[in-house]
Amino acid sequence: MSKRIVILGAGESGAGAAVLAQKKGFDTFVSDMSAIKDKYKSMLDERNIAWEEKKHTEELILNADEVIKSPGIPNEAPIIQKLIAKGIPIISEIEFAGRYTNAKMICITGSNGKTTTTSLIYHIFKKAGLNVGLAGNIGLSLAYQVAECNYDYYIIELSSFQLDNMYDFRANIAVLMNITPDHLDRYDHKMQNYVDAKFRIIQNQTADDAFIFWNDDPIIQKELYKYGIHGQLYPFAEHKEQNNVAYIENNQLFFTKPIAFNMEQEELALTGTHNLFNSMAAGISANLAGIRKECIREALSDFEGVEHRLEKVCRVRGVDYINDSKATNVNSCWYALQSMKTKTILILGGKDKGNDYSEIADLVKEKCTGLIYMGLHNEKLHDFFDKFGLPVADVQSMKDAVNAAYKMAKKGETVLLSPCCASFDLFKSYEDRGEQFKECVRNL
Ligand code: ADP
Repeated sequence: MSKRIVILGAGESGAGAAVLAQKKGFDTFVSDMSAIKDKYKSMLDERNIAWEEKKHTEELILNADEVIKSPGIPNEAPIIQKLIAKGIPIISEIEFAGRYTNAKMICITGSNGKTTTTSLIYHIFKKAGLNVGLAGNIGLSLAYQVAECNYDYYIIELSSFQLDNMYDFRANIAVLMNITPDHLDRYDHKMQNYVDAKFRIIQNQTADDAFIFWNDDPIIQKELYKYGIHGQLYPFAEHKEQNNVAYIENNQLFFTKPIAFNMEQEELALTGTHNLFNSMAAGISANLAGIRKECIREALSDFEGVEHRLEKVCRVRGVDYINDSKATNVNSCWYALQSMKTKTILILGGKDKGNDYSEIADLVKEKCTGLIYMGLHNEKLHDFFDKFGLPVADVQSMKDAVNAAYKMAKKGETVLLSPCCASFDLFKSYEDRGEQFKECVRNL
């Protein structure tokens, strides 16, 4: 009898895992507590894969030999607790897909900058003409692409939740952008658990592999040597010191290994300090893959950016509106504020993940001329920021937020949506939040 694989959660990763499991001849079953989107239902039906929605039928799940869990399902979910109690192995879709491909894996994690860096690396590889797929949290799932495509390289964005259930997967190039508190609600409110999850990106690496990381990050520096590193180290940072293989000097970006080259900082397509680091990480990855320096330079300078990340919307009556809806934690808002060149009205708030706003306190004092709290529960924002004496508005919809910002902003200022919080109290997702922002701004 063939081995039974049960997939919990039928979103992009679950449906893709099911397609691959079925193709590899497993007895495959998909179960989702919520409604499954039509496109995934047809994907499963076309391949005669059994599925259920809006329930988890225990008899059909607890008989699995192995379970592939969507990263969205927390370990506390009753069905997961039962699987753990029965000792049934639970893996992530990436772990599963990794078993069936020999492609080179370039994996990116970190608290912030994952999507930008992943998309940038993909852009360089594509431009260089390599046969490359983009996977993880972006676009099609890795499992689906392993089942249906035949790429030589995959550029994979990995969240800590995906890393949680990875055991034997090996990243040929691992990129760790930074580690700042995020998602602590899913890690028993213990920072160490979250740090451990992030460092899983280097488990199973060998001396043939590379580990690229931001060397200015205090947490990475402190924790680095705890984890048994086997890959070659490629640290990058703002300054030349230590063994940094990428850094800034005289407004130039230097790469020293494996091929040395440099480029003007102002030629980079992405602006802001954080994007310097994203560009360095991407440049090193491409350099390691043997892509010519001319091509790397060109790709780093013509990349168009990613939606909802410091995305310029438009200028209305001399005020610039910027959509940074993807800033779902305090650190990413810090970088957004830091890159503001004018006084700023900041729209923030939403579903708080245990935020400590003291990180942005100084920048708010320095740069903000008004604050808009947008959420169902704005008490914490009032408690922290009201004492700064800035004009504030309390809103429960995007329309009201944008109208309030419009009233507050003076010519020459910027309105920045960079919420520090998840979006689920008022919106379907951060994309929905960003779309609504753009629409309201365009309707001003
Ligand atoms: P992620 O996929 O890790 O959430 P994104 O690339 O989507 O990261 O960017 C999310 C937000 O974080 C953006 O709004 C941006 O302002 C900020 N950001 C991007 N890169 C970095 C970085 N290297 N360090 C800190 N913040 C960053």
